[in-house]
Amino acid sequence: MTLDVTWALLWVRLTAESVRAAKDELTELDRVIGDGDHGENLDRGFTAVSAKLGALEEQPARIDEVLKIVATTLMSKVGGASGPLYGTAFLRAAKVTGIPELDSQGVVALLEAALEGITARGHAEAGQKTMVDAWQPAVDAAEAAAGAGDDPERVLAAAARAAADGARSTTPMVATKGRASYLGERSAGHEDPGAASTRLILDAAVRAAEERG
Ligand code: ADP
Ligand code: MG
Repeated sequence: MTLDVTWALLWVRLTAESVRAAKDELTELDRVIGDGDHGENLDRGFTAVSAKLGALEEQPARIDEVLKIVATTLMSKVGGASGPLYGTAFLRAAKVTGIPELDSQGVVALLEAALEGITARGHAEAGQKTMVDAWQPAVDAAEAAAGAGDDPERVLAAAARAAADGARSTTPMVATKGRASYLGERSAGHEDPGAASTRLILDAAVRAAEERG
């Protein structure tokens, strides 16, 4: 079982739907520890991605083409910290997915490249209460699952579970990167919005793999 462009297109659609559904929740998380725009930012971005894909004469033939559209659109529409961060993540992911189908190692490569993009851009490490606290465990879990011989769907599921745990783990953390760090100790007690949106994105990737059949 491998993942192809159908999966990538469904991933984007399910992400757009779940970002829309969680918009207020993400914004509320960002309101308490940031500037209250994360849900709005991402919803604007993924709505634009859907519009761009919908307007194409021909649907993309490869995963990397889909991810590149996501990247460039998020970069131009999302703004804030998360636009460039997610934009770079999807751009790096596109660079390693210029192949017709992804096997388990291909999924690992996609996730590793995304994390590398985020850290290259934002210079955050795990423990600083950012989206890296969801991405880093997701990548570690994906590597372990692929190493154990799991298929791509299970590799994604392991990554998404780890991202969810990672997002939850940001609640007690004191932010030392990004806008939330201006709050110092007061940033503790709320989940990081970028880690929460990372969980949604990876969860959508799993559902896309399942629904695609
Ligand atoms: P802004 O912080 O400019 O308001 P958003 O609200 O769109 O941007 O996104 C905020 C999220 O971006 C944070 O919750 C955090 O997860 C992530 N973030 C901010 N700075 C960094 C960084 N340097 N590295 C990784 N992630 C970061
Ligand atoms: Mg914000």
